[in-house]
Amino acid sequence: MLTLDIVVPCYNEEEVLGETVRRLTAVCRDLVDKGKIASESRIYLVDDGSRDRTWELIEGFCQSDLPVRGIKLARNYGHQRAVFAGLMTAQGDAVISIDADLQDDLDAIEKMVDAHVEGYDVVYGVRDDRSSDTFFKRFSAESYYRLLNAMGVETVFNHADYRLMSRAALSNLGQFQETNLFLRGMVPLVGLPSTTVSYARSERFAGESKYPLGKMIALALEGVSSFSAVPLRLIFLVGIALFVLSTGLGIWGLYVAFSGASVPGWASTVVPIYFLGSILLLSIGVIGEYLGKIYIEVKRRPRYLVEKVL
Ligand code: UDP
Ligand code: MG
Repeated sequence: MLTLDIVVPCYNEEEVLGETVRRLTAVCRDLVDKGKIASESRIYLVDDGSRDRTWELIEGFCQSDLPVRGIKLARNYGHQRAVFAGLMTAQGDAVISIDADLQDDLDAIEKMVDAHVEGYDVVYGVRDDRSSDTFFKRFSAESYYRLLNAMGVETVFNHADYRLMSRAALSNLGQFQETNLFLRGMVPLVGLPSTTVSYARSERFAGESKYPLGKMIALALEGVSSFSAVPLRLIFLVGIALFVLSTGLGIWGLYVAFSGASVPGWASTVVPIYFLGSILLLSIGVIGEYLGKIYIEVKRRPRYLVEKVL
């Protein structure tokens, strides 16, 4: 019988955790009753260095007869690493990762399990309805998926980190050495048969988003610079285009000067200085982004440190 573990990253989630555990437990018990998963299946709550009562709540769940285990990370590592820590700690034959805020429809869990039993190693949860998200969130998220694809990063459209992975897929994932984690880009690289199940995304059950704009932008940049060298190549292309353009401009300038029609211009001197200056700074910025990434990667620091496992 399949043991299924569910990994839930939790960062300051005291308001939702009780309800989340209650609903996840109900789903698990239902699946156990239907004979789809083993009764040893567990819910792994990963406390990502919360500053509220999240860990005390998790300790409480672990002491009760709920099928819950707790992992306390040594500090706040961010969503991706918290999920990764949970995935690497869970022991089940298949592991599902899901956010703590119940935005993702729990009915998809059964669909994922069914797909796994049919022989799929990775089952992606895909949102087919984002009407509960704000226009800005929906627009920015969808443009981002398109941008990633345009840059040659293979991701699943409208899939966040709600997915099932088999033991085989997890051990493949564990072999990836990078410190900068972008699971949505990494999971498709593990290979193995995969499929998607769709679900509707609802509103956060309680509490506010732990993904403010800043973190969202950081994750977006991570996705691009960890998986694509296209920005570096773009710099090169822009450089070539500007070279051709400025050569043409020079020839035209000489022609105008010799034909005696030149007017000493302020704009023609100053505008290119600013323009080229901005291109240069931009280019150095992009290179810096990658250089910084290499700097972090060569340190080979642990991707997460665990303080306690219950
Ligand atoms: N989270 C985390 N560490 C962080 C930020 C968020 O573990 O530093 C967790 C959070 O508790 C939640 C999940 O990541 O379970 C997704 O966060 P949230 O729902 O706030 O993001 P949104 O759905 O708004 O993108
Ligand atoms: Mg959320």
